[in-house]
Amino acid sequence: MGAVMKLILLGPPGAGKGTQAKLLSESYGIPQLSTGEMLRAAVKAGSEIGKKAKAVMDSGGLVSDDIVIGIISDRIAQPDCVSGFILDGFPRTLNQAAALDKLLASKKRALDAVISMSVHDEELVKRIDGRFTCATCGAGYHDKYHQTKKSGICDKCAGTTFTRRPDDNAETVRARLMVYYRETSPLIGYYFAKGKLSTIDGMAPIGDVTKALEAILSPFAKTHVKA
Ligand code: ADP
Ligand code: ADP
Ligand code: ZN
Repeated sequence: MGAVMKLILLGPPGAGKGTQAKLLSESYGIPQLSTGEMLRAAVKAGSEIGKKAKAVMDSGGLVSDDIVIGIISDRIAQPDCVSGFILDGFPRTLNQAAALDKLLASKKRALDAVISMSVHDEELVKRIDGRFTCATCGAGYHDKYHQTKKSGICDKCAGTTFTRRPDDNAETVRARLMVYYRETSPLIGYYFAKGKLSTIDGMAPIGDVTKALEAILSPFAKTHVKA
């Protein structure tokens, strides 16, 4: 069994939430819940939700609270979320945060930590500009900061096809940053007021960021149960 912890990685687009959520998910054995990935899967599948979400995502706006709250409440109800989960990209509005509180309270559960990853705006733009993903396994890479060990071959699954997100372009990045400051950054105050917030330096190299996260999470990781 994995660690028992429920946490949120909070940060602007490109801060490194997905990268760290994947690493923590592996080391602690709890699922990464990325609303962005779930929505991209819905778009690819051509489902009703995907049809509603596509244009908004392409323009850098936010998908409606109702849709993402619905997706997350279904996902958290799955058996693999019983001992914990890492929320990556949710909540993104105060409305979503309040809905999450209600959802967890109804199951008599609570968040253990909310970790805010701070990264300068110019760096976010560079990170998003160079981001690419393995089309086979979803592993994330960067043209300069995190290349594959062998050129053109995924480190994880040896896949050779890679994708870039349609919303990872210079114009849309600015729109996404604006949306982040307007809609999502108030969550930092929201969780600070609840006594849940920790902040880490997201500008550090990937391995150092992981160490900083593990230091914050070590009290919860101690509940790790060996099967
Ligand atoms: P988010 O999920 O917050 O949007 P990602 O995890 O996808 O961010 O990271 C954005 C890009 O920056 C990716 O290409 C990733 O490889 C790279 N990256 C992530 N963390 C770091 C870091 N600490 N330093 C340099 N590049 C990073
Ligand atoms: P990033 O990694 O750049 O932070 P995500 O992969 O988390 O981006 O999200 C991609 C897009 O999916 C967002 O720009 C938004 O349109 C939509 N999205 C993801 N999560 C949410 C959410 N919690 N609420 C509303 N829209 C969301
Ligand atoms: Zn791969």
